[in-house]
Amino acid sequence: MSMNTQGRPTAPGTADAPVHTTFTGNKALNMEEPLIFEIGRTDICGVDLDEPEKVELRLGGHERLSSLELPALSEPETMRHYVRMSRNNYAIDSGLYPLGSCTMKHNPRLNEKMARVPGFADIHPLQPVSTVPGAFELIAELADWLMKLTGTTAVAMSPKAGAHGEQCGMMAIKKAIMEKGEDRSIVLVPESAHGTNPATAALLGFKVVSIPARDNGTVDPAAVIEKIRENDGKVAALMLTNPNTCGLFEPDIIAIADAIHEAGAYFYCDGANFNAIVGKAKPGDLGVDAMHINLHKTFSTPHGGGGPGSGPVVLSDRLAAYAPLPFIRQGDGELEVVETTSQLDEGEKPFGRMTAFHGQMGMFVRALSYMLSHGSDGLKQASEDAVLNANYVRVGLQDLMTLPYGEHPCMHEVLFDDSFLKDTGVTTLDFAKAMIDEGYHPMTMYFPLVVHGAMLIEPTESESRASLDLFVATLRDLVMSAQQGDTQRFEGAPYLAPRRRLDETQAARKPILKWTPPSPTDVEPKAAAE
Ligand SMILES: *Cc1c(COP(=O)(O)O)cnc(C)c1O
Repeated sequence: MSMNTQGRPTAPGTADAPVHTTFTGNKALNMEEPLIFEIGRTDICGVDLDEPEKVELRLGGHERLSSLELPALSEPETMRHYVRMSRNNYAIDSGLYPLGSCTMKHNPRLNEKMARVPGFADIHPLQPVSTVPGAFELIAELADWLMKLTGTTAVAMSPKAGAHGEQCGMMAIKKAIMEKGEDRSIVLVPESAHGTNPATAALLGFKVVSIPARDNGTVDPAAVIEKIRENDGKVAALMLTNPNTCGLFEPDIIAIADAIHEAGAYFYCDGANFNAIVGKAKPGDLGVDAMHINLHKTFSTPHGGGGPGSGPVVLSDRLAAYAPLPFIRQGDGELEVVETTSQLDEGEKPFGRMTAFHGQMGMFVRALSYMLSHGSDGLKQASEDAVLNANYVRVGLQDLMTLPYGEHPCMHEVLFDDSFLKDTGVTTLDFAKAMIDEGYHPMTMYFPLVVHGAMLIEPTESESRASLDLFVATLRDLVMSAQQGDTQRFEGAPYLAPRRRLDETQAARKPILKWTPPSPTDVEPKAAAE
């Protein structure tokens, strides 16, 4: 049996839980698949290519002369390799994915169909502008929806993820402060913020000052005002996540915005949780100056290994002038694309540029397809259903699991802590791993940090009642097992996954990114010992 550094088994077949082993290592439909480097052959090629014509090398002696050593398989072997690998994967298409703060919802197939329309799928970012008016029209229409849904007046479309959007919004704020000739070096970040918020502020050279959470998990405007006073004239912005990472709407958001504006600072809102409030509240009306929207969360474009992110940033009047290049503007009758500073109008002062081109076109198509197919009433209903589903899970579990902030309604995600596991001998991590044996991706664990042993569940609106009932019943069964002393169900879990407990810390801190063939000296002593 092999162990990781925490003494957890990483391979099946512990004495406590004998597992039927097979000759192949396969477990019926669950195939054991080696890496392509292990099974591919470098001396073959999966396709028949003509011998290349002799060409004159023009790289001045820097040409690669040795073979690339790429592993190859035949077409049927290639097919099997990737299909088998994919079956070791957990995806929103295979089951409920309750990862709080990540909004893992269904990606409607209509969006995929639209993204594959050749006029969108086959265009190139370097194509002449005159050949792609439809793409610009689509970007402008999506931008219009985003501004209307958020009650703002400008939007930067190019950021490629939520965190990238944060950077964009904060760079606009930095530029606005510079333009005013002010020296403001501090960004206030509540404790309940997503980790990317303080990281963004720090990356841009701001000093992060933390604001403690109230006992009920929300931000107290008095605490914000106190920090503004302590740092008189130095506060550049506040970064607030709303709904926050405890799944709660910040009830005093308007008072907080007023305090920030009164201090001459800007109000950045992390809008990654917009899924809870689309069609219900407009961040612009709440005093927000900049907010990124994760198209890959709220507007259902695939993410988390399924596709790239997209994080447009909406901007208030106070920041609109500083939106980065490139952007699209309504010209005389036609849309104009502003790509260089020479095209700028009076008053437009972009802080620079975030990306080479216009952003994630494929995601724009999917997001607009989602918006148009839902309509504004449908988007509002999606938010309501997301909140309803989270509360359904909350009510189904609150007698057995523990709610850190009491039994009142949450937004689109429900936060439990691990007090219910106290004295059971089952750790929070064990509990999550046992969910894998039951066929569920665990919820977000140990985040947010304001709560001990946090378990943040976001079911999203796309789960049916039957699916939620089974999920709730499964968690109830696990909790009762833990409380009745069946620690064995948890200690070595997952027992049934293709891989058991991996050393996640090592994997994150010291990832092995390059495959090296095992050297004969590594292999031989073992073989000799056998
Ligand atoms: C997901 C998320 C982010 C970061 O978004 P990425 O697209 O992963 O960069 C930021 N804040 C919150 C609250 C989030 O949930």
